[in-house]
Amino acid sequence: MAENKRDYYEVLGVSRDADDAALKKAYRALAKKYHPDTNQGNAEAEAKFKEASEAYSVLSDPEKRRQYDQFGHSAFDGMGGAGAGGFDFGGDMGDIFGDLFGDLFGGGRGGSRSRTYSGPMKGANLRTSIRITFEEAVFGCEKEIEMTLKDECTHCQGTGAKPGTSPQTCPKCNGRGRVVTTQQTMFGMIRNEQVCPECGGKGTVIKEKCPHCYGSGYTQSKKRIQVSVPAGIDNGQSIRIRGKGELGVNGGERGDLLVEVVVSNHPLFKRQDTSLYSTAPIPFTIAALGGTVRIKTIDGEVEYDIKPGTQTDTKIRLRGKGVPSIRNKSVRGDHFVTLVVQVPERLNEEQKEALRRFEDTMTGEEHKKKRGLFK
Ligand SMILES: [Zn+2]
Ligand SMILES: [Zn+2]
Repeated sequence: MAENKRDYYEVLGVSRDADDAALKKAYRALAKKYHPDTNQGNAEAEAKFKEASEAYSVLSDPEKRRQYDQFGHSAFDGMGGAGAGGFDFGGDMGDIFGDLFGDLFGGGRGGSRSRTYSGPMKGANLRTSIRITFEEAVFGCEKEIEMTLKDECTHCQGTGAKPGTSPQTCPKCNGRGRVVTTQQTMFGMIRNEQVCPECGGKGTVIKEKCPHCYGSGYTQSKKRIQVSVPAGIDNGQSIRIRGKGELGVNGGERGDLLVEVVVSNHPLFKRQDTSLYSTAPIPFTIAALGGTVRIKTIDGEVEYDIKPGTQTDTKIRLRGKGVPSIRNKSVRGDHFVTLVVQVPERLNEEQKEALRRFEDTMTGEEHKKKRGLFK
């Protein structure tokens, strides 16, 4: 079968000298695209998924990759369950999945990671989002959110079995949680490993269910959770709250809660990283003569001295009036203000007269030339 197989590098679409990060990136993209969870009943996607997983499992292992580089597919002939599938999913793929998909699929699917491993495992992460105002993102805030969380059933200590009884080893899989079936096909023997249908992969079955949790081993309740939003957080960033995710397995610690922050726009200010941007109108008389104006900043109004002869579109920098760095809130970015010189739309007679008298004083050649254009 080996000669029919596609080259592993070709499968992942990477060059032969691709490093670990490039392999992982390529595999992640393919696995996400063809993952059985998102392509149910699609045999072609399943085949592509297996092909990519196989390629990655070999190339991500330095020893296997060396052998593959030297001998090609024949390096693994007769290994790993062989057959047309040529690849055994029951082995250490769990580690690869745990590593790659821990965040990708939110973990909570009971995916490949826990089926054969029975030690303590950290619970999956939960995700939620909160909307905060522009100012709350700049200065930080405290928020409270409500989440429905599972807790271990205190009645049965999470076993799901009626107190006084205990879960029994599953007779179908002998506690392994997985069953192996072999199938004779025209390509040879295909070995398939599946989650045990009897115990759902747990390895144990409950004869008498706990009446409190109906055998699930957990209860659910709404919890109010405090979220400390740090100053300087930006739209789309997440806050990790340890121990507020899914229950751990077999005494493992709880997963985390990841709270994504959605920041509302501000009517005056735009933000980029720690810089703020806005425009501020200034009267044309102050632009010409100079003087003090009040400019709105995220901290409130500040006074700013305008130089005589300031043009419209002049950009000024208000140091330290930007957004605090999320790593160190005593370090703040700057606020960049674009000055817009405002020409009055209505003038009374006295003002017009004053401007005409001013106009008459403008005798320079440059001025005459410009005026000529508009006469
Ligand atoms: Zn219970
Ligand atoms: Zn079983």
